[in-house]
Amino acid sequence: MMRPICNTCGKNYCSVNYHRAGITHYRSMCDECGRKKNKLKPRSPKWKSKGYKKKAACDLCGFKSLFTSQITVFHIDGNLDNAELSNLRSICLNCVEVVKKKEVTWKRGDLQVDH
Ligand SMILES: [Zn+2]
Ligand SMILES: [Zn+2]
Repeated sequence: MMRPICNTCGKNYCSVNYHRAGITHYRSMCDECGRKKNKLKPRSPKWKSKGYKKKAACDLCGFKSLFTSQITVFHIDGNLDNAELSNLRSICLNCVEVVKKKEVTWKRGDLQVDH
């Protein structure tokens, strides 16, 4: 598979999103544009403005966190704009690694992720 060119600047290669089953999936833009975009558009995550609160315990393993930074909110359909409660999971940092390998659609809701 050819590595796609960045949609935004049209000159750099897209950054790698994830590898799965020997196939590399790319983002729609290069690292450079991804960084610029993040700088230009700081925004508070949708789930926060919807009133969702990170749980104290991990939805997957039940790990009880001491600090909210130990828990990450995931959108299980991969759509960061879908902040319905049924689409949100509170995941501990251990399980983030598991999710990244097992769940293709899940997306972290606390990062400025490009689509
Ligand atoms: Zn670019
Ligand atoms: Zn966990």
